[in-house]
Amino acid sequence: MRILLLSDIHANLEALDATLAGAPPFDEVVNLGDIVGYGASPNEVAERSRKLGKIFVRGNHDKAATGVMELDEFNAMAAAAAIWTRNELTPENLDWLRALPQGPISLPDFPHVQLVHGSPNDEDEYVVSLGDALAPLITLTTPLTFFGHTHLQGGFFANGSSADGFRPEYRTVGQAESVPLQLKPATRYLINPGSVGQPRDGDWRAAFALFDTDAQVVHFHRTPYNLKEAQDRIFAAKLPPRLATRLAAGR
Ligand code: ZN
Repeated sequence: MRILLLSDIHANLEALDATLAGAPPFDEVVNLGDIVGYGASPNEVAERSRKLGKIFVRGNHDKAATGVMELDEFNAMAAAAAIWTRNELTPENLDWLRALPQGPISLPDFPHVQLVHGSPNDEDEYVVSLGDALAPLITLTTPLTFFGHTHLQGGFFANGSSADGFRPEYRTVGQAESVPLQLKPATRYLINPGSVGQPRDGDWRAAFALFDTDAQVVHFHRTPYNLKEAQDRIFAAKLPPRLATRLAAGR
């Protein structure tokens, strides 16, 4: 089975469209949360995400925009975007987002794979460094965890003798590209497909991944998208302008 892994779309319709246009053929879609927040197309992205598949975990921005979570842990820019999003969402989309399940959830038919937004131990925790990853990696009974939240494509592994982090290495800055990662036996992984709609690893292109369960290969992808249109929508919505400008820097 070929599973398309999407995370942190953040209401960026242009990035989602480019991702779907650039993705190789897939059988199933997994969405790791933060469908809305920051971007200017929350209804379109929620509706498209719903049509794509049935496997979701909720993100902190999905919770904040729908009142499941207080805004006190958000910075001013994120809080302003959450309130704007809440006002913008249709009642139907609000209800759907509010009901998204909390991770970890297991992938149907693949009990060795689990899905979370932040960390397996805490849905809101950021797994940025190897230090952050070690505790879940050492205690995990599930060999493969897909996570999001950090907007950083790549991940971490641990086996009997070593543990380290990894990032896909791309050759260009503006073209569609992919980098494969062959999973090794007897090794535990935490893997982040990257953020579709607001990457923060210095690469502006939409990030996603495809997991080939037969070959045990995770293909990391980047694809360019219509950045200017996504930015213009954010300006027109009178969201904080930095939410538009940061997209160009991938930060
Ligand atoms: Zn996010």
